[in-house]
Amino acid sequence: MYSSAVKNLLAVLERLPGVGPKTAERFVLHFLKTGKGEVARLQMALEELSQKVKSCAVCQNFAEASPCEICADQKRDHRQIAVVAEPQDVAAIEHSGEFHGVYHILRGVLNPLEGIGPEQIKIAELLDRVRRATAAGEPIQEIILALNPDIEGEATMNFLNRELAAPDAAEPRGVKVTRLAKGLPMGSDIEYADDATLASAFKGRREI
Ligand SMILES: [Zn+2]
Repeated sequence: MYSSAVKNLLAVLERLPGVGPKTAERFVLHFLKTGKGEVARLQMALEELSQKVKSCAVCQNFAEASPCEICADQKRDHRQIAVVAEPQDVAAIEHSGEFHGVYHILRGVLNPLEGIGPEQIKIAELLDRVRRATAAGEPIQEIILALNPDIEGEATMNFLNRELAAPDAAEPRGVKVTRLAKGLPMGSDIEYADDATLASAFKGRREI
């Protein structure tokens, strides 16, 4: 029978993605065995994370500065935005070396079954960013929808395409919207795609 201190930590750990009751138990026992030093290190690392890492106000990625390093880089093409679901996708695309524009991180995709609608992800921020760029006289030229080709990714791309490309009499945006070439197999993850596949998917992107 565990003490309430152990139960509390188990409850917190079990909320982490990919951590079930057994793994949570192993973590707790590890900390009990290794003692105060290891606990203090974790405590400090978490404290540093929550104090230093924030959202980039431009692209919504996690970063220690806002604007983040990529958004602040004047050598990149700020008229081209690749829209991705998660921060891990940025890392994969950067690694492929094919894309030199900037990013917008949605922090998820539409998933009605899990209650994730347009308000739960960073769609309004993207539309606002496009609008502000136009107002500033530096309109976005291309939005590349770089989402995984699965059901949720497709639904999100369709939604964004309607929002971005539909000529609205009151507010014409006129931005070109493209998506990655079919190189990525259906249901595959951008995060795990190899560099060559990702680079050719970017090169062969097409207008929706
Ligand atoms: Zn940024």
